[in-house]
Amino acid sequence: MTLKIGMKQKSFSVPANLLRQWCYCPRVVYYIELTDIVANYPLWVKQGENFHQLEEKLWQRRNLSRFKLKDGKKFYNLAIRDSLYGFHGVVDMAIETHEFVYPIEFKLSASNKKRGDIMQLTAYAMLLENYFSKPSQYGFLVGAGKLLHTIEISTDRRQKVLQIVDAIRRMLTRGVKPDSNASIFQCCACEYINFCNDRL
Ligand code: SF4
Repeated sequence: MTLKIGMKQKSFSVPANLLRQWCYCPRVVYYIELTDIVANYPLWVKQGENFHQLEEKLWQRRNLSRFKLKDGKKFYNLAIRDSLYGFHGVVDMAIETHEFVYPIEFKLSASNKKRGDIMQLTAYAMLLENYFSKPSQYGFLVGAGKLLHTIEISTDRRQKVLQIVDAIRRMLTRGVKPDSNASIFQCCACEYINFCNDRL
């Protein structure tokens, strides 16, 4: 199956981290990108930033046996922009081997893999492929040195990434607050709850 990439000129590049937010609730992307609301982020957001810094340091000493790889070159905080796909992002960690390239995301929580995490990791794999000119068939979600999930970078997932990026771009261009089907549990855990009057 070939990826269907819109040939229209991309008016602006979409940050790949918005994919995860969009999967949680499209309105979060609206609030982040189109309003000057300063979200009151919970403590775990700061904990997550500290965790990323610590993981980056520790991975400089760890070997790659957790990924069943004999060797490979590690890269950290790799910023990549891709004009073909029209999105950009900063990959926590990437491993380049002779044949392949693998995206790795550090996760503070070892919870079940979420759709947003999978979409974001797939987007990073797509960026890495073009950057290194090597295929990316799998990516990894890791936490505290443990491999949490191995994610296949399938054609369906790649296509879904492109669809979401297009949807984000359309929403940002139109500037209209999108509908949401977020559950009451998602809304209660959301830092923008005070601005969604129709939700609770
Ligand atoms: S409060 Fe609910 S509807 Fe509003 S942005 Fe958050 S998750 Fe979405």
